[in-house]
Amino acid sequence: MCGIVAYIGQEQAFPIVLKGLKRLEYRGYDSAGIALLENGEIKNYKRQGKVAELESFTDNQDTEGTVGIGHTRWATHGLPNDINAHPHTSGNGDIALIHNGIIENYDILKEGLLSRGHKFESETDTEVLVHLIQDIKDHEKVSTAEAVRLALNNVIGAYAIVVLSKDNPDQLIAARKSSPLVVGIGKKGDYYLASDATPIVEYTNEVVYLEDEEIAIVERNKGLRLYNIQNQEKTPYIQELELQLEALEKGGYEHFMLKEIHEQPHSIQDCFRGRLNVDTGWVGLGGIKDYEKQLASANRIIMVACGTSWHAALVGEYLFEDLARVPVEVEYASEFRYRNPIIDEGDIVIAISQSGETADTLAALELAKSKGATILGICNVVGSSISRITHAGSYTHAGPEIGVASTKAFTAQVTVLTLMALAIARNKGSLNEAKFRRIITELELIPEKVSKILESSDYIEELSKEYKDASNALYLGRGNSFPVALEGALKLKEISYIHAEGYPAAEMKHGPIALIDEEMPVFVIATKGTSYEKVVSNIQEVKARKGKVVAIVTEGDTQVKGMADHVIEIPNTDEHLSPLLTTIPFQLISYYIAVMRGCNVDQPRNLAKSVTVE
Ligand code: GLU
Repeated sequence: MCGIVAYIGQEQAFPIVLKGLKRLEYRGYDSAGIALLENGEIKNYKRQGKVAELESFTDNQDTEGTVGIGHTRWATHGLPNDINAHPHTSGNGDIALIHNGIIENYDILKEGLLSRGHKFESETDTEVLVHLIQDIKDHEKVSTAEAVRLALNNVIGAYAIVVLSKDNPDQLIAARKSSPLVVGIGKKGDYYLASDATPIVEYTNEVVYLEDEEIAIVERNKGLRLYNIQNQEKTPYIQELELQLEALEKGGYEHFMLKEIHEQPHSIQDCFRGRLNVDTGWVGLGGIKDYEKQLASANRIIMVACGTSWHAALVGEYLFEDLARVPVEVEYASEFRYRNPIIDEGDIVIAISQSGETADTLAALELAKSKGATILGICNVVGSSISRITHAGSYTHAGPEIGVASTKAFTAQVTVLTLMALAIARNKGSLNEAKFRRIITELELIPEKVSKILESSDYIEELSKEYKDASNALYLGRGNSFPVALEGALKLKEISYIHAEGYPAAEMKHGPIALIDEEMPVFVIATKGTSYEKVVSNIQEVKARKGKVVAIVTEGDTQVKGMADHVIEIPNTDEHLSPLLTTIPFQLISYYIAVMRGCNVDQPRNLAKSVTVE
């Protein structure tokens, strides 16, 4: 959460930083701000709201300057207003700073600074850090870079920061711990700094991902120096970016979310490219090849994740247990890390995270690693923190996901988990050849079946009209459709603000059935499979209480058609793979309802992507 971006070079910094902020806006949109340094003066423009507000606010202002830092905020400490917006400046205005993260000991630091005469304007933790840097600089008579280093040694918490100082207009100082930061090395002695590579990709493909507790000093025309927080110099590891610029544009779609929903036939295919060969009957994931045996013989696998990724993990649990016969526990990372979990050396912990930066998931992994477990990752963002701290892992290859509500990252995660389960099952011999062949043959057909469902978009849009004014909704599914019901409910909540709950269909009668009346839409997954008849009975129970039923059924189904208010037909597939299909209509329903309700689909209120705070 929070996007930070900075530039130093020969070009005008303002347009580069502003454009970068627009790219990073998915990380937070409570406020935006840019500070520029020119002719020895820091100009600081900040505005509550989206980057567009800042853009119009600065329309007729002086935005000259070849060095600048910018921030788009997801507030943790203090209201989302102009004053709390970053950049924050030191008391004498000599230093400006942008920050992503939380300074956990800010109140103790603030007390000390107040007693030394510092005055604060904002309610943020960030402002304390910039005052602390100034305080150390003045009292210890050290350079700004050294003051930053000393200040960070006093900080508890998470940070990615960039510091701009009047006394060195040719320099930017950056550092990170637990929040991501990338340095882009320009072609003309210029440098770019950002929370991820998306603001950098059009200028250079040479990047350095900062590690925890590293400090980077970039100097115009001079170069990049890297230190650890103990002041030992390190050699920067320059990597080549593989990101495509087109992947960051809407490509003719009204919203990123709609584009990303429609990208799924390709993203699923990209996910299994090179990992699946139906002709030879082979499945393999290069990244975890060396761990296949260990996975197959594991006493227990623990999957840790948050939000949508947690739902993918639940689907994974069904797949791993049913196909590979390995016991799996699925945990919310935020709960797992704080409840003294029992982990031993024989355990394998798999973390699932789109961004690979999710703070709780990262911390859960660190905990498991410290107890001797093998830790693996499933992430989308290449080079992310999770991919770097894990022993091994598999990328989902879904491409950048910009819509805050996750869609293609979810189906890609489920695809990777399916491939993993199949690879382990193969290794272990827990799946007979005919069944293995049948599933991989079906898996290869999933992208075209997803395309087929997307062709019903108009029909789904039409039926969504009937439910757009609902205040509540219930999502039901059984078996591996239960996590899909949870994910369907989450999508609706996130972007349309309709209260929705997902339940295992049979649990409905233990409580939620009391909520059902003529106003209540109930979205049910009733595809052909083990629990089909049971789900049909659950539909009857809803109809007996006059609830409205929208059922997702297998093509050609006649039984449910006769009972439900609406049915959405999807192509038949192997039951293990059905979540990859049943989730698509739910994504579309949420999208259309949110659009009809006039909600900001790509940037829903209070949310942000890449949750780098606890
Ligand atoms: N803690 C800082 C603030 O509230 C930064 C928030 C963040 O990175 O999400 O302004």
